[in-house]
Amino acid sequence: MNESLFTGPVFDMARDQLIVIADHLSIPEDQRDWLLYPKRAIVVTCPVRMEDQRIETFVGYRVQHHLALGPAKGGTRFAPNVDIGEIAALAVWMSWKCALADLPFGGGKGGVAVDPRALTAKELENLSRRYMQEMIPFVGPRTDVMAPDMGTNEQVMAWFMDTYSMYQGVTVPEIVTGKPVGSGGTLGRREATGHGVAFLAFRALDALDIAPSSATAIVQGFGNVGSHAALGLAARGVKVIGVSDHSVAYYDPMGLDVKALIAHVATYGVLAGYSSEAVIDPRVLLEQRCDVLAPCAVERVIDGDLARRLNCRIVAEGANGPTTPEADRALAERNDDIFVIPDILCNAGGVIVSYFEWVQDLQQYFWSRDEVMDRLERALDRSWGLVIARAKRDGVSNRTAAMAIGVERVVKSKQMRGLFP
Ligand code: NAD
Repeated sequence: MNESLFTGPVFDMARDQLIVIADHLSIPEDQRDWLLYPKRAIVVTCPVRMEDQRIETFVGYRVQHHLALGPAKGGTRFAPNVDIGEIAALAVWMSWKCALADLPFGGGKGGVAVDPRALTAKELENLSRRYMQEMIPFVGPRTDVMAPDMGTNEQVMAWFMDTYSMYQGVTVPEIVTGKPVGSGGTLGRREATGHGVAFLAFRALDALDIAPSSATAIVQGFGNVGSHAALGLAARGVKVIGVSDHSVAYYDPMGLDVKALIAHVATYGVLAGYSSEAVIDPRVLLEQRCDVLAPCAVERVIDGDLARRLNCRIVAEGANGPTTPEADRALAERNDDIFVIPDILCNAGGVIVSYFEWVQDLQQYFWSRDEVMDRLERALDRSWGLVIARAKRDGVSNRTAAMAIGVERVVKSKQMRGLFP
């Protein structure tokens, strides 16, 4: 297999992780590339008319990792450093995540190399619509269903859905999830990922016999996932002592006011400007003593060096891929057993409720928020139980256990369906 297309540190990480699992599951060598490399990778050019009438051209990607269990499913990321290797890695992780949660989806992911904060609302709309228009031949409710990720939101999903629907001549809400409620979105989707991160952090606190009311937490990233994770933790008495985003990091051992931080971000778009007293170096923040450390921003923030210096009891991975394989090895070498809730389990709340949204759109029958949240928590509990039992049975880390379950399900489905032709 010519590997030149899928390169970079994030794809290398997805490959390294799969090698660990493939060895653990004794997957034959000749099946490993088949498992790792995406079924389809699409690269598009999106010319956009800017406010000053210039045409600016952006590169967009969509990767469909496999379709053995159903349509590809995954978010769309708008960020300056997006490339095909990163998007492919995120699609691979979505495959294991969907399979672990027993959802009828394969992994997908997309993105555009752009800083969305540098665009006006009209430019963002033009780019979103052009990107979806370029993707129309390759996506569909039974082929590939998009969702939000870093740098995109409900509004972008509404534009995606509208663009696809205009071409079909009918409204097709099931083409994307994470839409606004009222345009085919589901109650509970906005907070689903962060809620799930907090819900599983409580399961871990319980397993370690730590009362939430005596626990502390530090959350990195204060967008959709981080802010709702912080809110969910604070709602049950956990003291949130540190938060950060790309603009600033704050630390206050007496506790930060999460609702006030959220209100500040709603007004100013960033955490910067909230306080001048609590400012701390963003990396030093992650080394502070706390019970729950929740990385909810970008990949590869916990490297080997940081892993050796962590001062937390639990790492709740809200982000995708926040911990490098080197950090995993460093954590395994520590004798204090930091409890890791791996990303494909910890942040699965988002795709689980996206699945509920897709089902509701297909049936045109919508559920109450209580029903959504109740089904979400039951689904997370099921996966949690499977991962903990598997880790114990095989004497492996939670990450290896979670990935083994996900990879095994994909392998079984591929083997049962057979190799075409
Ligand atoms: P978002 O765009 O809403 O927020 C991202 C946040 O991270 C922002 O606060 C941003 O300032 C911050 N950030 C960016 N770079 C940072 C850095 N170097 N240090 C500290 N903070 C930084 O994105 P999101 O939807 O919250 O996604 C966050 C992570 O969660 C991503 O890894 C994403 O793939 C993952 N995720 C998201 C969902 C979802 O439903 N949105 C589901 C599963 C996983």
